[in-house]
Amino acid sequence: MKIIFATANKGKLREAGEILGEGWDLASPAEMGIDEDVEETGETLKDNSLLKARFIHEKTGADCFADDTGLEVDALGGAPGVHTARYAGEGHDFQANIDKLLTNLTGVSDRRARFRSVVTLILSGQEFFFDGCLEGRIAGSRSGKGGFGYDPVFIPDEIPSADGRPVPNTDNLTLAEISEEDKNAISHRGKALRLMAAFLKERGK
Ligand code: IMP
Repeated sequence: MKIIFATANKGKLREAGEILGEGWDLASPAEMGIDEDVEETGETLKDNSLLKARFIHEKTGADCFADDTGLEVDALGGAPGVHTARYAGEGHDFQANIDKLLTNLTGVSDRRARFRSVVTLILSGQEFFFDGCLEGRIAGSRSGKGGFGYDPVFIPDEIPSADGRPVPNTDNLTLAEISEEDKNAISHRGKALRLMAAFLKERGK
């Protein structure tokens, strides 16, 4: 069955394809001829993921889903939260976002944080929501070359062991220092997408 994932990020598409498994013809908006982006004006992650999914559904009428992710840092009162992508301001890149985060946490010892994702699925015109969370803390400086976004400064509490079971991250590895497969197994988005995949399976999709 055809389903559109409202993202331009190839890594996310690959991850969703692996999680959904056989039987889904997963397409990006670009593959459906849509190259505009919706403005993320919502006040919550759920609002923004719904905005993105509705935008694609209105354009295509097809089943689709969208995700929105935020980084919540306890010492910053939950910021950057819904502003995670634009923390350092419009037009700034990930490096500027990380610089601002590290600067705002200078001298702060409680560095507890989490990534939170909300996935909105529109199936036969009905809307469904799935949440995923990854607990961890913000490192003092960048480590690692993998991943994207805030990965070089996010230390998850647990990482998958050789047999796939989550174990304490005693080496304090950042998400940019573990494999893409390991990251997908524990990530906020992976968890929300797996809940969506289970829901689709239950519905016989
Ligand atoms: P989006 O909703 O997936 O576009 O995510 C919003 C922002 O959160 C992105 O611009 C990234 O900076 C950040 N982000 C989302 N997912 C991740 C992740 O898995 N690792 C690191 N940063 C992420």
